[in-house]
Amino acid sequence: MELETHLKKYFGFPSFKTGQKEVITSILAGQHTLAMLPTGTGKSLCYQLPTYLLQGQTLIISPLLSLMQDQVEQMKRLGEKRVIALNSFLSVSERNDVLRHINDYKFIFISPEMLWVPFIIKVLQQLTISLFVVDEAHCISQWGYDFRPDYSKLGEIRKKLNSPLTLALTATATKKVREDIVHSLGIDANEITKIESTIDRPNIAFHLERLNAYHEKQHRTIELVSALQKPGIIYFSSKKAADQMAALLMEKGICKAMAYHGSLEPTTRVLIQQQFIHNQLDVVCATSAFGMGINKENIRFIIHFHLPMQVESYLQEIGRAGRDGLPSVAILLYAPGDEQLPLQLAEAELPSQQQIDWLFNKLTEQSNPGDGRVELNQELSKQGGFSEIQWRIIKEFINNPDIEMSNLELIKSSIQEFVRERLQVKIGNIFHMRRFVHADTCRREFIFDYFEEEFVHNKIPSCCDICGVNLSAYQATSHTLLRETTEENWKDYLAKILINSELSK
Ligand code: ADP
Ligand code: MG
Repeated sequence: MELETHLKKYFGFPSFKTGQKEVITSILAGQHTLAMLPTGTGKSLCYQLPTYLLQGQTLIISPLLSLMQDQVEQMKRLGEKRVIALNSFLSVSERNDVLRHINDYKFIFISPEMLWVPFIIKVLQQLTISLFVVDEAHCISQWGYDFRPDYSKLGEIRKKLNSPLTLALTATATKKVREDIVHSLGIDANEITKIESTIDRPNIAFHLERLNAYHEKQHRTIELVSALQKPGIIYFSSKKAADQMAALLMEKGICKAMAYHGSLEPTTRVLIQQQFIHNQLDVVCATSAFGMGINKENIRFIIHFHLPMQVESYLQEIGRAGRDGLPSVAILLYAPGDEQLPLQLAEAELPSQQQIDWLFNKLTEQSNPGDGRVELNQELSKQGGFSEIQWRIIKEFINNPDIEMSNLELIKSSIQEFVRERLQVKIGNIFHMRRFVHADTCRREFIFDYFEEEFVHNKIPSCCDICGVNLSAYQATSHTLLRETTEENWKDYLAKILINSELSK
């Protein structure tokens, strides 16, 4: 049967989105596959469809609990009952119950920390895993912008499960990160099919504006938001700045705007997200917490008020614009000294030397005189003022079975070394963003270079501020005009940049 027929039968979609068919074909041919496809292109379907066509079960490793729950809920809504998420949301008795009936499930989502539990591995070893999926696979690489130490063990786990057929999925990974993913999974470079879509989104224009100070950026943001076609998202690196801007936009009667960040109640967050999706809000003033998993087609602008932490996340964020293929604009505002905030944030994400010293003094005091075992309880995290991310790093090292638990000195120095290396990577990433700002060459070409993708020298109708972008074309009134005059050019351009599929055998 044709793959399209299966697609229609299981999902009701008439055709594949870019890259899906190539990935599915590769999996069904028994090839380990690394797929880099932009967010929103339907990467989940790349493992869901093969799962229906393969005999055994599919194990999906996913880094974010909320994303995992979303996926599971979505599949259940579509009528798939044989799906389960093994994560910390389950109570111990629920978990045991699931494990007893694990054979009833076709799709098993699991968080990386669950893979530490020897008992769970034992159960998984009994299954016929026909597909091992690593979602957000860039988390494996320490060069990846979203590195998760608990992901780095996945190669070992995969081996324990008898090296099943593997699919690694990511939206944005540099060449170095992609190589690292393959290596970390314990797959030979010549044994994996790489399907990489272009990172380019030709309907999104880049526009950078230099201003002199914070209040000028505020003023300019208000000016831009009132003129531009909406809806749009403004990204901030500070919750306070996001709150302030949303209040200003409302006060001045410019548009319906709300702030969205991690300090809001989960129900408020869901509400804002829903209001935005259903066009009841024009603008969301958000931190990076907003946007993952949001499928909204008609976002017309993304403004970055602060300097993003790295090119990858910048690209992810601006990629939320123009999913409908219509002209959209990504505006980055820059004032001298804007590097300081991301540098501070990079440092704050990691445990400080002071916190590490404090914790290890405590642990030494508390360690069991017999076997030197220590207990990491949540109380310590609170007392030491550790953030969630900082505590995750600490836990990762203390729970690492490769390091003798009693050897506190070794654990401490491993953490210190990790923090040093990680900070270097983060600073390097910020400097790349800085270079992007200060470059006097085409911004699109810069992005291509960063991802080591060959730059296609096609004249895009509205490329970037360096190549010449007429910002007034994105104003509410002139928008239709721009769309009409350039639609043909876009079609031409899109036809030329079809997916680049490379079978490195
Ligand atoms: P990604 O993981 O790449 O960001 P998702 O897998 O979450 O994307 O899918 C995004 C949306 O696209 C989902 O709502 C999904 O139902 C939809 N989708 C996936 N494949 C297709 C298709 N072939 N045709 C239409 N919609 C699709
Ligand atoms: Mg996804």
